Amino acid sequence: MPEGDTVFLAATRLHAALAGQTLTRTDFRMPRIATADLAGRAVENVVSLGKHLLFRISGDVTLHTHYKMAGSWHLYRPGERWKGPAWQLRVLLETAPWVAVGFRLAVAELLHTSREHELIGHLGPDPLSPEWDADEALRRLTADPDRPVGELLLDQRVMAGPGNVWKSELCFLRGIDPWTPIGRVSCPERLVALVKELFEANRTIGSQVTTGDRRPGRRHWVYERGGRPCLRCATPVRVRSGGEPERVTYWCPACQPTPAP
Ligand SMILES: [Zn+2]
Repeated sequence: MPEGDTVFLAATRLHAALAGQTLTRTDFRMPRIATADLAGRAVENVVSLGKHLLFRISGDVTLHTHYKMAGSWHLYRPGERWKGPAWQLRVLLETAPWVAVGFRLAVAELLHTSREHELIGHLGPDPLSPEWDADEALRRLTADPDRPVGELLLDQRVMAGPGNVWKSELCFLRGIDPWTPIGRVSCPERLVALVKELFEANRTIGSQVTTGDRRPGRRHWVYERGGRPCLRCATPVRVRSGGEPERVTYWCPACQPTPAP
């Protein structure tokens, strides 16, 4: 599932390819915007905020997309064979040097740029944004002392970007049981600092490496390692479904003890 750092990397690549270019053809395979045609307009910039991607297009138009569980953006040279099936195409933005293809996007909508705040105004600080504000992130994280840490790390109103991989890995790295109320977590500011540090480390990778080892299967301490030995203490990693795939939690009960009542 794409997380904030993955979306940031996509925005960086899309911006480098498209900014300043004129759209020669657009195709929107989403019911509400299917008839839109942005050909002739220029792409001004592409930015991410948390898991949201915003394409600013001349004439005060913003294309907003969100991957949710499975979307992706690809860049191709004109005429190059696509790596995804055409029937999964949701948005196509063609320019002379590059063709950007959004596959399986859960959200793709067009709006007046002045209305962007309606989509993103509720989001907490983004660790990869130039406007990152650690104090504000800490304030939002600790506003309700009874809320569990794991839930708070997924709440985009607290910090925009972390998803389920980060939730499990951050709790492991700080030795926190994911169901601990934030009011009982010592030094929550260190959790905020760790979010920033790990997002920066993944700024150009986009695949949530927390172990420092980029090899497949070695990238995470606990995420998707349910039942396997903890890489630190060999205790079997536990896994608990949260009802939805994006809510599943992995943790080591030895490295992340439940706080005493
Ligand atoms: Zn352990």
